[in-house]
Amino acid sequence: MIYQFFYIDFFPKVNYLLSWWHTASLEARFLVWYKSKGILMIQRVKGTHDYLDLTLFNFIIERATVLFKQHHFTPIMTPIVEPTELFVRSLGQQTDVVSKEMYVIPSTDGESICLRPEATASTVRAFVENGIQHVPWKVFTWGPMFRHEKPQKGRYRQFHQISLEVIGSSAIAQDAQLIAMLDYLFSQLLTFDAYALQINFLGCHDDRARFKETLGSYLDSVIDKLCDNCKVRKEKNIMRVFDCKVPTCQGLYTKAPVITDHLCVTCTEEWKTVQELLEALSVAYTIRPQLVRGLDYYNKTVFEFVSGALGAQNAFCGGGRYDQLVTMVGGKEDRPSVGAAIGVERLMLMLEPLKDKLPLPQLPALQVVIPVAPAQQTVALLLGQELINQGLCAEVLLDGGMKQMMRHANRIGAKYALIIGDTEQAERAVTIKNMVTGQETKVQQTEAAKFVKNGS
Ligand code: AMP
Repeated sequence: MIYQFFYIDFFPKVNYLLSWWHTASLEARFLVWYKSKGILMIQRVKGTHDYLDLTLFNFIIERATVLFKQHHFTPIMTPIVEPTELFVRSLGQQTDVVSKEMYVIPSTDGESICLRPEATASTVRAFVENGIQHVPWKVFTWGPMFRHEKPQKGRYRQFHQISLEVIGSSAIAQDAQLIAMLDYLFSQLLTFDAYALQINFLGCHDDRARFKETLGSYLDSVIDKLCDNCKVRKEKNIMRVFDCKVPTCQGLYTKAPVITDHLCVTCTEEWKTVQELLEALSVAYTIRPQLVRGLDYYNKTVFEFVSGALGAQNAFCGGGRYDQLVTMVGGKEDRPSVGAAIGVERLMLMLEPLKDKLPLPQLPALQVVIPVAPAQQTVALLLGQELINQGLCAEVLLDGGMKQMMRHANRIGAKYALIIGDTEQAERAVTIKNMVTGQETKVQQTEAAKFVKNGS
């Protein structure tokens, strides 16, 4: 009996625990350890991240910013909190974002505010509220967005978007120009090669009204085969049926009528122009007749950049034309516009495997100043200041003994250690140790910055 308990019952459990311990993430192991000690660790909110290395993040923002400014876009910032009504009116009550995913902040003063789920509506609100007169208003912004979605790879509850808008331009060529600029960003500046641009054309208001009826008739003819969700979408937001992931529904939608076959004369011409311009600008694209995008404000051109490397959440940039949004948020007249939003986290996922080949900024060489005893701390701080004034990167070490400080200097990759002991202090000198060769040179403190800069 004991034998049985030990080998059949006990050992497999121990083995399981041991193998779990070796394969679990550091984070999970910390959690178990903390719990075993009775310490309740406060964890970040589900679907959010701590960004402890901003190299890739900053690289993306910097590359996009430089390119957008070259195209004469101006950076702007709008608040992270907005009136809930802004998104209800613009994105649409029936969209997933508004009906299920908004972080609405309870308030006591009757005003309903929320964390912004996207930035286009905010930018359009800013355009109207600030009475911007010069159009096209070409602006971009970047920052955190919030959606209460089910977290998975590439889908988070707090994520970052770079959002760019051209407000007040009805020229359909503007759409092609914007798409070509984004394509240049992804292919040339971020060096992606495995991605695709998918485009579609949703027509004008009248086209969509007509098409919704045509689509409705088709859906009625296959209603018994539709999933429950699509039956609801058919009644509430019919075009969104195309976003359904259920394979049987997808099969049915490949045979459904397509909107580009139901465009008016002007829209047919514009749809043709977009394609011709993309070809002229050497932008490769595929037409996806089921691409409708999740938000209600889109019309005419819609597009998405997708990558197979991202898994289920494969879109890393999406956008399109929104000709009525300005009046939807309270502007007096329609201002036809076009814009796009780029998912920064998804770009980071795509960049991670390419990291070694990217021209990421090199950290400047670091010098550390080491006071041997507390009596030398003042002069060490002054020397540290002088190095920084001379444009160098320097850190004064103030914790631990000499041995610990040298070990720390090694660990943080210091190029030189500038050591000040009793003798150096008395002589107004400093011993400079080359951390690679180990060579030590004593120089006057006033000469230290020059020595470090010239390497001799
Ligand atoms: P949307 O505003 O929904 O058109 O999304 C534009 C881009 O933002 C998408 O193509 C994604 O790259 C990114 N994105 C949207 N939702 C999320 C999310 N929950 N987590 C991470 N990225 C997202």
